[in-house]
Amino acid sequence: MGERKKSIAIIGAGIAGLTAAHALVKRGHHVAVFEASPRIGGVIETVCRDGYLAECGPNTLLETSPKIGELIRELGLESRKRHANPGMKNRYIVKHARPVAMPLSPWQFVTTGLFSLRAKLNLLREPFISPCPSGTEESLAAFVVRRLGKEFLDYAINPFVAGVYAGAPEKLSVMHAFPKLHALEQNDGSLIKGQILGARTRMKRGEVSKDKARMISFDRGLQVLVDGLEKVLQGNISLASRITGIARKAQGWQVTGVDEDRLFDAILPALPTHKMTGIRFEDDGPMDFSPFEEIIYPPVASVVMGFRREQVTHPLNGFGMLVPEVERRHILGTIFNSSLFEGRAPEACVTLTTYIGGMRAPEKALLPEEVMDRCILEDLSALLGVRGSPTFVNRRVYRHAIPQYVVGYGRFKDRFDHLEKKHAGLFFAGHYRNGISLSDSLVAGLEVADRMELFFKEK
Ligand SMILES: Cc1cc2nc3c(=O)[nH]c(=O)nc-3n(C[C@H](O)[C@H](O)[C@H](O)COP(=O)(O)OP(=O)(O)OC[C@H]3O[C@@H](n4cnc5c(N)ncnc54)[C@H](O)[C@@H]3O)c2cc1C
Repeated sequence: MGERKKSIAIIGAGIAGLTAAHALVKRGHHVAVFEASPRIGGVIETVCRDGYLAECGPNTLLETSPKIGELIRELGLESRKRHANPGMKNRYIVKHARPVAMPLSPWQFVTTGLFSLRAKLNLLREPFISPCPSGTEESLAAFVVRRLGKEFLDYAINPFVAGVYAGAPEKLSVMHAFPKLHALEQNDGSLIKGQILGARTRMKRGEVSKDKARMISFDRGLQVLVDGLEKVLQGNISLASRITGIARKAQGWQVTGVDEDRLFDAILPALPTHKMTGIRFEDDGPMDFSPFEEIIYPPVASVVMGFRREQVTHPLNGFGMLVPEVERRHILGTIFNSSLFEGRAPEACVTLTTYIGGMRAPEKALLPEEVMDRCILEDLSALLGVRGSPTFVNRRVYRHAIPQYVVGYGRFKDRFDHLEKKHAGLFFAGHYRNGISLSDSLVAGLEVADRMELFFKEK
């Protein structure tokens, strides 16, 4: 590359900021990553203690794009990658106070007690239901009731959305939170028909749908990925560097809050929007970031508990258990970590990660520790037959966990588009714009680097 190397400031060293930095450094650009906290990784953090391995935030990464495998290979982490145990496909949904395995095949669907015969027969109508008029925005709940019926909302979508978004289907927008579902209806007229046609398209593109993508982690948890990125970005990252302002000067972008008088050709705020609104953005006067204050991030507590195997009656033969709201329990769901990956618990012990709070009951994420533990153990005892006290506990409370792509979220996405167009060199990427999953944020970081490259070439 004979062209002049560019300088880029990235604010936030979560997965999106780190993968963007890696892709830009690889192209020879000068990259400075500013991270407010004393560590990188954002919500990803693995704790190893007393023979247990606990993920504080995300537990698994879905390999939805070939770019994820490429990154892992580039970082030399292939041998440390671990696929979730293929024998642990069961996902339990609580029905009438009992975990029932979600059907995994058409035959299991016919025989499952999770849905009534009426709900099952109702599905035969799905291909004949007309799509919502284009341009109309529906909540996920309205969409599911219209196409699949109320029982699917209560015993499939409600618990699933609690597990992924810590969200409420009545608030989430099908168009923004589940764009592929929305597209299936709009393009193919039916979810069932669209699933079949979509599988062919994905195969051609080498992509994998989220329900088929392989679930991975690493021998020592997701921290391995963060450490791998840290190794190749040594010298690019400034820790304990909270940015308080971004201003456009005649010769480039300047950041304030750190001892930095460099000017940058491009700037990427890769931090949550509730932090973004605390930063002063200027370009010929202040930019208005106040609309982003309306983006909701409900609180969620993630509590990892270790037990001796004999303390738990349930076989724990699956990914985990989700709890529908109609079951009126405290918790949102529990992941059976030690069933999924080796090395998560000492010999003859098990690890369970339970989520509590979210849009369903935000106050529960902020309960005093003893009260929260009582609530969790009450549910684990009733649902999984857990007895006695845990031998290990690791708790992380996220006061602002996951942004909710609610009905009307398009106005925030439009605003990001508008700000990028208006302020040359300003880019946005991460969980607040490109999808809330770890894989979405990782790929968003890689893709924003491509967009920056294009911008530098066209400048
Ligand atoms: C509890 C929980 C569980 C999850 N589980 C899963 C899962 O199992 N699978 C999955 O796919 N996804 C999961 N997710 C979602 C996924 O982990 C996140 O969406 C993704 O990691 C977000 O990455 P990011 O880089 O966009 O943001 P973040 O990880 O939030 O990183 C932003 C960074 O910006 C920094 N920062 C903030 N303010 C400033 C400032 N002023 N100056 C400089 N730096 C600043 C922060 O300290 C942070 O390091 C989970 C999320 C949570 C909260």
